[in-house]
Amino acid sequence: MTDRDVRQCSLCGADVVWAITAAGKRQPLNATPDPAGNVAAHRDGTGTRRARAVVPDRPLMGFERLYMPHAATCAGGLPNTPRTPTPPRALPIGVADMNAYRARKARAR
Ligand SMILES: [Zn+2]
Repeated sequence: MTDRDVRQCSLCGADVVWAITAAGKRQPLNATPDPAGNVAAHRDGTGTRRARAVVPDRPLMGFERLYMPHAATCAGGLPNTPRTPTPPRALPIGVADMNAYRARKARAR
């Protein structure tokens, strides 16, 4: 399978190829076939890359290659990647910032 349709992930810049799942959704796969992956992909008669999950009762077929879903390895934008913490919200007018008060008091000692 030649991959002239390799694209770069917009989040991490890695090489990915797009496939269409059995549900008709687009799924990015790591561009290089990966024996550790769990997605079987092949080109259908029109050249569209089709992807499906490999499960015990539907093992990899000879015409398919095993790929890793890019979401499993993407280095950018995943929910579990560390993010910049949100700055504390400003207190409403009339509400004393007790943490700042205690910090000032502690420094004054
Ligand atoms: Zn990525």
